[in-house]
Amino acid sequence: MQADVVVVGGGGAGLAAAIGARQAGADVVLLEKNPILGGTTARSVGSISATGTAHQRRHGIADTPEEHYRDMPLFADGKHPDNDELRRVLTDNVPETFRWLGAAGVEFFGPSEEPPHTKPRMHNVLPNSRAYIFHLENTARRLGVRILTQARARRLVTSGGRVSGVELDRGAAAGAVVEAGRGVILAAGDYAANVEMKRALIGEAVAITEPTNPTSTGDGIRMGLELGGSIINGERYSGGIRFVAPTKPSWLTGLPPSRWLMRPAGLALRRAPSALVRKFLMGFLTTVLVPSARLFSDGAILVNANGERFAEERQKMVAELAYQPSGVAYIVFDGALGERFMRWPNFISTAPGIAYAYLDDYERNRPDLFHRARSVEALARDLGMDPSHLSATLSAYNETAGTLAGASPRGDRPALAAPPYYALGPVKNFINFTDGGLAVNTRLQVLDQAGAPIAGLYAAGSNGQGGLLLDGHGHHLGWAFTSGRLAGAYAAANGA
Ligand SMILES: Cc1cc2nc3c(=O)[nH]c(=O)nc-3n(C[C@H](O)[C@H](O)[C@H](O)COP(=O)(O)OP(=O)(O)OC[C@H]3O[C@@H](n4cnc5c(N)ncnc54)[C@H](O)[C@@H]3O)c2cc1C
Repeated sequence: MQADVVVVGGGGAGLAAAIGARQAGADVVLLEKNPILGGTTARSVGSISATGTAHQRRHGIADTPEEHYRDMPLFADGKHPDNDELRRVLTDNVPETFRWLGAAGVEFFGPSEEPPHTKPRMHNVLPNSRAYIFHLENTARRLGVRILTQARARRLVTSGGRVSGVELDRGAAAGAVVEAGRGVILAAGDYAANVEMKRALIGEAVAITEPTNPTSTGDGIRMGLELGGSIINGERYSGGIRFVAPTKPSWLTGLPPSRWLMRPAGLALRRAPSALVRKFLMGFLTTVLVPSARLFSDGAILVNANGERFAEERQKMVAELAYQPSGVAYIVFDGALGERFMRWPNFISTAPGIAYAYLDDYERNRPDLFHRARSVEALARDLGMDPSHLSATLSAYNETAGTLAGASPRGDRPALAAPPYYALGPVKNFINFTDGGLAVNTRLQVLDQAGAPIAGLYAAGSNGQGGLLLDGHGHHLGWAFTSGRLAGAYAAANGA
């Protein structure tokens, strides 16, 4: 099989790359190893941060790429240098990406505030992140992109000093090669599910922790490394505890995310009372949700299924959770903390569509995770724990110096002593995504160890992250779609 451009991966970056290349006049084949497209993109919350949008203008917000560029470093941990050139590529081009997604049929809600961004610029997809894939796949097929599913790229093929194709496994066609006249774009996602890569690049606790997307095997990065590329920020990842996904998704999740349904929904939601809006949007929840770090820094504790504390709750990754009974825990707090987490800026988690979910959103919309009782003993009974264990845990915690084996002292956190008592959970540990990407230049060409472009090889999304720091909400998807769109256009123009 022959094409001008071959795209490896059918998530957000891969679909954007395929469409970008096709719109620039190339004949495109997209390879996706899974039976359906989507990748981590389809499992994400779905927020995207962009400036100069029609949504911002409707709310009277004047915002620019320059301000976005200046605000992004406010999220950085100070430990890793950023790639300023790629940050410029993102902030200059994500406004067009946002318009482009809208033209493809994607509807958004917002914008919402997200400090330390100085302006509200986080937009959330309606009704959830599968809508990106639904609309981009339709667009790609309509434009004539040839999409092969269950087609796993195995190895890059080179000839005449350039990348000239991809060898793949696809049923009986194992070892077949798709030739790429102009270039190959790696958009095969991260390595959150690759135990060996995580062990080598990050460490043991992360290596043995379950990934949110079990098919993020890091193939694109591996193939880039095999041809002399290098990985930047390989040790960075996003992970930690998450609420488990609903066992029975709402009937709303079965509705197609088509524009004829979502445009009126978006308009109605702008006028509807907020409780109704929140109920409607939380009904679409298909993704697992992350409890905010502030819940723990403000005093909530983590107990295992026996009602015992087992770790310092305020660390980025509570690795000890993996070794607790059934690998699950509950977040426990009192009425004083509960009262605070009913409103901005104290949210329990971000959530698709509504941007932030508060305690009462969980009570109304996730009764499977929400527990409240007048006493600690009653809460324990509700959770199926021995009441004496949970009481002993809270008593020990409330005495400043007191602690149980493995857990930290309370320190300056408030005592948990005001009824009612709450528990949210179960929660489990997950690795959401890894943040290491191949080194690329501003044309998304993969660079070799000497910093020279590897002819015919491009990377986008997680594969082409190139040392760009994407902390905060909505930058990873912004990068996936923007770098994909641009890589597609650059690859199409290569030797054309
Ligand atoms: C729970 C969760 C919530 C998130 N929420 C947000 C959010 O709200 N906002 C935000 O900006 N970011 C969010 N992110 C991060 C964001 O989803 C990812 O960074 C982004 O989707 C990566 O896109 P991608 O196209 O690079 O990879 P993916 O979407 O993972 O696509 C890669 C594709 O390549 C395929 N593939 C892999 N190997 C091969 C192979 N050998 N051959 C062929 N195909 C292959 C995969 O099956 C997959 O379909 C979230 C992540 C998680 C886990």
